[in-house]
Amino acid sequence: MTAPRVCGYRANRGELLLVPETGKPVLGQWEPIVTPDRWQAVCSTFSAGSLYMHRGSGAPRLQGKRAAPRYLAGGILRCGAKRHDGTVCHGPLCGQKAKSRKSPYTYACRDCGRCSISGPLADDVLERLVFSEAAGQARPSENVHQRWRAGELPLDERRKIIASVITRCVVRPGMKGNHTWDYSRVEPVWR
Ligand SMILES: [Zn+2]
Repeated sequence: MTAPRVCGYRANRGELLLVPETGKPVLGQWEPIVTPDRWQAVCSTFSAGSLYMHRGSGAPRLQGKRAAPRYLAGGILRCGAKRHDGTVCHGPLCGQKAKSRKSPYTYACRDCGRCSISGPLADDVLERLVFSEAAGQARPSENVHQRWRAGELPLDERRKIIASVITRCVVRPGMKGNHTWDYSRVEPVWR
């Protein structure tokens, strides 16, 4: 009953499929049993976070520990979409594969499904922010930036560098039909 398909959403191996441009869930070709809001409400009565997405055949068993992040900005980005009651969602945007040459992966909110952003765009924005004047004293050295650009820093090291400068970033939902990269969608919260 917590499977996304009950409200008409498509999922693959426990990950909601989203339209990359809009961040909206991809709808299946079947009759939904409940509305998305009702489904969200049911899911939220279970354990925290996105655990409900990891059920069903083929899903890995939950072992109480989190998998290491596979994407640079995973967990750093927060959803800036408004809920029905007008409050901001602030759910974590999680990295997932996407079918686009320009954006082979995206970050998407699994709490509300209303916000997603191109993975390469978000990663690029984070890099610019971390090494910008605005980072102030926390800004890493030019040497670090060169190593970053040369691909010498592993993912967890780059994530640590980001975390030393930025607590999180709030991402505004993209405009439907706007396919240009809008850097201003990502708003940093500096340390
Ligand atoms: Zn959200």
